Amino acid sequence: MSHRPPDPKLLSINTATVRKRWNLGEIFEGCARHGIQGVSPWRDQVQTFGLTESAKMVRDLGFVVTGYCRGGMFPGSTPEEIVAARDDNRRAVDEACELGATCLVLVVGGLPKGSKDILGARAQVRDGIGELLDYARPRNMPLAIEPLHPMYAADRACVNTTAHANDLCDELGDDGLGIALDVYHVWWDPYIHREINRAGKKRILAFHICDWLVPTRDLLLDRGMMGDGVIDIPSLRAAVEGQGYEGFHEVEIFSGQDWWERPPDEVLKTCIERHQSCC
Ligand code: ZN
Repeated sequence: MSHRPPDPKLLSINTATVRKRWNLGEIFEGCARHGIQGVSPWRDQVQTFGLTESAKMVRDLGFVVTGYCRGGMFPGSTPEEIVAARDDNRRAVDEACELGATCLVLVVGGLPKGSKDILGARAQVRDGIGELLDYARPRNMPLAIEPLHPMYAADRACVNTTAHANDLCDELGDDGLGIALDVYHVWWDPYIHREINRAGKKRILAFHICDWLVPTRDLLLDRGMMGDGVIDIPSLRAAVEGQGYEGFHEVEIFSGQDWWERPPDEVLKTCIERHQSCC
């Protein structure tokens, strides 16, 4: 099956992709220099660089902020931990609003420390998202649940399939709630196409791209550049765009041993090329 290359204007860079050698200001300048129109910054980078300054650069350079990374981490082992997560998530919504982000991405959290109760953690996640929706909806900041590959169920996110994310949208109501689909996390799922259809245009709030390397040498920091791994990215893009998704394709690569070590200008150039040739 052949696919037309994507519109180059739809490339977005998740700022984690070049975070090691550049600060956020340098990343924004670099993206602008390469003609990239979408960015998705991380909270720690924004905090280091300054929220006001970050928002000003976004406006001045005319970026679309295709997501703000990230809220979530809802489960806690004490009421105090749960309240702290709630308050921090509200601040994340406020920051996302100030940056004009299209959504706040939620990495929902895994098991509380010492717990083996994944069903309980999932219930905390549902309740946490429900509570955050009450805060985010009146501020018009959509929340995007990002299902993570099941290898992260214990420590990062106990929502591991698009079906589960769709179930949460069904239960909590999809006004201001949707899904961030990351090919790295969903490519293996035998039901992914069915669940993309079920999500539909309304729920697909973000589309993240990178590649799955074989072998994967590190659970977190060994994501591949598009084209270097085994993910059929064009078919997933066709599926989301088949639902009417018109948003950006956000490159998100954590690569401790490879891409983070390269000159960021080379990384951005490669992202632009591979977006055209492999997505
Ligand atoms: Zn992602």
